[in-house]
Amino acid sequence: KTIAQLHNVTKIYTNGCCSLRSVNLRIHAGDFLFITGDSGAGKSTLLKLLYGAEQPSEGQVEMEGNLLRNLRGRALAHLRRRIGVVFQDYQLILSKTVEENVAVVLHAQGFARSEIRRRVGPALRMVGLAAKAQCFPEQLSGGEQQRVSIARAIVHTPPLLLADEPTGNLDTHNAWTVLQILKRLHTIGVTVVVTCHNEQLVQAFAQRIIRLEAGNLRELPLST
Ligand code: ADP
Ligand code: ADP
Repeated sequence: KTIAQLHNVTKIYTNGCCSLRSVNLRIHAGDFLFITGDSGAGKSTLLKLLYGAEQPSEGQVEMEGNLLRNLRGRALAHLRRRIGVVFQDYQLILSKTVEENVAVVLHAQGFARSEIRRRVGPALRMVGLAAKAQCFPEQLSGGEQQRVSIARAIVHTPPLLLADEPTGNLDTHNAWTVLQILKRLHTIGVTVVVTCHNEQLVQAFAQRIIRLEAGNLRELPLST
């Protein structure tokens, strides 16, 4: 089963910078997919196209059978809710506690108060941070902050989780912990797509690897 697909996608930014060149990619439900490549290769752009933060210059992005280009308003909002996103720099709200940061998306999506209470605890337990629920982001290490951002990304139980260089600011130990959490999410049925330029981490965790080189995509065999 296909969860998302890029059909001949080219992305040229308004400044003329071409970051993806006729990219075709099928993401299967149940994939644990790593996107590798040097800085500037187009990894981040590929994820942005999947969650609709950028539009392709040519080609089509398809999510759960819908062409993103054709979706507007409620339909687009509905589809976005089926995706969780994790960023390299965590993007936590510093004036809110860990628990409040995780609840923010649910509030925004109109979940009932009782449902929010029911969901936040398990999401924090999944990332091993139940004990830090009342802390503020600045009281946490970088690794812990990234785990909060993962809890926030999964609290609405999206089938697809996109993580853009989630280990980029972390030391090896914390990077490992974060990828183990992503792997656990994959085990319970979440489709996970991660960009990562650390080849060792990629080889240790990936179930499927694609590589971008100056906007050109190719699938890599898994070395065993
Ligand atoms: P657009 O996508 O329409 O170019 P943005 O607001 O994303 O608009 O970016 C504005 C300008 O900032 C770009 O034209 C580019 O020059 C620069 N820029 C933004 N992000 C990046 C990036 N990741 N790499 C290089 N240049 C960037
Ligand atoms: P990666 O995530 O692999 O580092 P990106 O997708 O961020 O690569 O960037 C791919 C190319 O597109 C780079 O050359 C980058 O400078 C350019 N780029 C990214 N975002 C923008 C933007 N908003 N405006 C202009 N150029 C951009």
